This record gives sequence, C-alpha cells and structure tokens, in this order.
Amino acid sequence: MIAIDGPAGAGKSTVAKIVAAELGLSYLDTGAMYRCVALLAKRAGLGEGDAEEVAALAERSKIKFLPDAVLLDGEDVTKAIRTPDLANLASALSAKPAIRKVLASRQRQIILEGGYVLEGRDTTSVVAVDAEVKVYLTASIEERAERRRSELVATGHEVTLGELMKQIAERDARDMNRPDSPLIRVPDALAIETYGLTPRQVAEKIIERARSVTTLN
Ligand code: C5P
Repeated sequence: MIAIDGPAGAGKSTVAKIVAAELGLSYLDTGAMYRCVALLAKRAGLGEGDAEEVAALAERSKIKFLPDAVLLDGEDVTKAIRTPDLANLASALSAKPAIRKVLASRQRQIILEGGYVLEGRDTTSVVAVDAEVKVYLTASIEERAERRRSELVATGHEVTLGELMKQIAERDARDMNRPDSPLIRVPDALAIETYGLTPRQVAEKIIERARSVTTLN
C-alpha cells in the first residue's frame, strides 16, 4: 500500500497513476469521492449547513472507478466533478465529520484487499495508516495554480492565475485547519518538494522507496 497526501495541485493524481502503473497496483483517487458527494449535494440544493443530509446522500450513493472514468450512480461524472466550483464545495463539505466518516469507511473497504496507491488529504494519517510507503508532496502555490490552470484550460474552463491562487490558498487553509482529519505531513512520510521535477521523476522517487521497503519490483 502506498499513500500519498499533499495540498491541491501538488500533482498527486498524475504521480499516483504513474506509480500504480509501474508497480502493477490499483489506484484510488479519494478526492474524486469528495467531489462526487459535492455534486450530489449541489444537485439536491444542499450546502455546507446540511452535513447530515449530505452524509445520508453519500451513504446511499454508488461511486465506481473505471480505468478512465468515475461513475456516480451509474452516470459518467468524470468531467462534471472537475470544476473549480465543485472543488470548493468538496473542500467545504470535507470538513464535516459526518461526511468524512462515510467516505473514509468506504475507502478503507476498497483498499482492504491491498495493492493500492491511494491519494488525498488524509490517506497517510487516517485512511491507510498502515501503508508501507507514505508520501507528502509539496509545491509552491504559484506552481500548483499554474498546473491547475493548464488542466482546466485543457477541459475548456477559463480561469485567471490570480483567481486560482486565491481559491487554492483558501482550500489549503480549510484542508489544513479543519479539526477532523486535517491535511498534515505525518512524521514517517517521505516529503517530496516537486519544484523542477517532472511527474515521472517524482514517481521514480516513490517507486525507489517502495522497492526498498517491500518486495515489489
Ligand atoms: O484532491 P482533490 O482536489 O480532488 O480533492 C477535492 C477536495 O476534497 C480537497 O480540497 C479536500 O478538501 C477534500 N479531500 C479530503 N480528503 C481526501 C481527499 C480530498 O478532505 N482524502
């Protein structure tokens, strides 16, 4: 089990996918699950003040991961969950213990069989505390905003760098300061500053660590 945490836009998903493919492991994007719950809430007209109702919706929902798609109750929501709007709602809702409880328990269920690379904000500290390899990725806020901007532009969303930096800073503050499962760097995590490194170079560092502590090759 390899768990990767870090703030928004640090490159977790790209890196985790490379590591999973290289080592023949499965990949779990826990952030996509929070985004799915945000989409459910938005469609039901619910918000931050309705944590219990949103948690109940989450409990009843089915989130399925296909190799290149996320299905929410059978609907392909891969693109729909990637908007800045939903990222912010996901961040606000993810501070609610009732919602975290539902998703963390589901994530533990998914990874039970082992052989996973999972990434998010609490995978090293809460969901997969027994992971053989723990990683904390960081990058400057400018770099993270620039990465997110390229991703969003590629999917047809126009946002300015300044606006994205503001949103990311708000998201960081919320994710790091919430009382339940804040984003932290656990002491046994390998910290990687990704400045100047390609996703493959970051992935190589993680793979090297994985090979040194497990029998993976
Ligand atoms: O990683 P991603 O940007 O898709 O996650 C969206 C939001 O979901 C994050 O800003 C964070 O607030 C929340 N999240 C979380 N715990 C996780 C994964 C994501 O709180 N394990």
